[in-house]
Amino acid sequence: MHNATLTELSRRLHAKEVSSVEVAGYFLERIRAASTQLNAFITVDEEKTLAQARVADARIAQGGAHRLAGIPIAHKDLFCAKGWRTTCGSKILENFVAPYDAHVIERFNAAGAVILGKTNMDEFAMGSSNENSYFGPVKNPWDTRAVPGGSSGGSAAAVASRIAPAATGTDTGGSIRQPASFTGVSGLRPTYGRVSRYGMVAFASSLDQAGALAKSAEDLAMMLDVMAGFDARDSTCMERPKDDYVGGLARGVKGLRIGVPREYFSKDLARDVGEPILAAIDAYRRQGAAVVEVSLPNQHLSVPAYYVLAPAEASSNLARYDGVRYGHRAAEYGDLLDMYCKTRAQGFGAEAKRRILIGTYVLSHGYYDAYYLKAQQIRRLIARDFSEAFKACDVIMGPAAPCVAYDIGAKITDCVQMYLDDLYTIPINLAGLPGMSIPCGFGDRARPVGLQIVGNYWSEALMLSVAHAYQQATDWHTRMPAAFA
Ligand code: GLN
Repeated sequence: MHNATLTELSRRLHAKEVSSVEVAGYFLERIRAASTQLNAFITVDEEKTLAQARVADARIAQGGAHRLAGIPIAHKDLFCAKGWRTTCGSKILENFVAPYDAHVIERFNAAGAVILGKTNMDEFAMGSSNENSYFGPVKNPWDTRAVPGGSSGGSAAAVASRIAPAATGTDTGGSIRQPASFTGVSGLRPTYGRVSRYGMVAFASSLDQAGALAKSAEDLAMMLDVMAGFDARDSTCMERPKDDYVGGLARGVKGLRIGVPREYFSKDLARDVGEPILAAIDAYRRQGAAVVEVSLPNQHLSVPAYYVLAPAEASSNLARYDGVRYGHRAAEYGDLLDMYCKTRAQGFGAEAKRRILIGTYVLSHGYYDAYYLKAQQIRRLIARDFSEAFKACDVIMGPAAPCVAYDIGAKITDCVQMYLDDLYTIPINLAGLPGMSIPCGFGDRARPVGLQIVGNYWSEALMLSVAHAYQQATDWHTRMPAAFA
């Protein structure tokens, strides 16, 4: 059952070969068995999950239920889900129980999907390795010495180890695509504005976007179909009809123009990643796609710009954790100011504090023009580079990450090196574009490699069909870690 695609699970549920309660129970048991090895979940609540599964079974019995009805989905622990603890990987929200549902959760609930649990993540989605979680690091199912990537590392590890059929994630600077790459699963970050951010704990609001991690592009298409759509509660959510993501999967890649940026294959890219990426692009060529060289001349400015803009927005967004409204409050304090200071000193981890400090600094009088404004200008240049490139191609392909998953602890003391590793994902966020990562082979120490596919604005249907064409011709996406077979 754990290897079944969403399509297959849906078929079995609707044919009443299996009940939602059985499916949920099966995955809950797998989560329990893997919990000490992987630490992929922060919160599991069997009673709540099974209660929702019973409701789904009743809906399926009535007939006419949605195709995701009864399917358990894991959610990154920054989506508010009513009655569920929602921690965002932070001590400051350790005991916060969400009083309402995020838009994404509402949509899955409306379809009759079942909440399987809340997945581990870097604190406030700040990180690339999942080592910044207050709840401890997540392990990579392919090799538990390795990180799963971040910040949606719990979701990625859960899907890779088949302890969840699929999961949600968010991607502010690569947090869906990079962990998807590190764990050998498929991940989609939609265009900024495609999915409502309502009820998502905010990190950097002009970059945050919800998406999904699953075993295949086909599964991602089913999920996006549920998640996408206008929501007036998020002022940056676009009022724009969604496409037929599932129906459009089989369009093939004949005549597709694949842009490969000449800046991508530099000394920054590890050889064991570059080779499978080039082989994947070759496989597209054999299926009838044309490969053209494009250029993203300002790409090298994106990491420095992002690490000004994202902390600036974070410093503002995280100001709300003051110990008054909700979340942790220091047990002992003097006056009000002392309460703020102690609460925040105790509640935030080192990376969140670093970003609050950087963000406050770059927004302060006298530095605003030099850092924040400059970074905004660079952001515009990067978006313009992509617009130019998309005149010559339909999608851009390259690596999602410059290396395969590294060992836990290997980079945690050098945060700048970890930031620099985001070079392939961050430009897409700065431009607001959609991006995917799909498994395309293995690098050193048999650790997975992900191919990044970047589309123009609102082209998720095309991107999913491009990924699907590759998955019809190859079987990388069906490989799974032996320890969880
Ligand atoms: N690694 C990036 C960061 O630490 C991206 C995180 C994300 O996409 N949430 O900010």
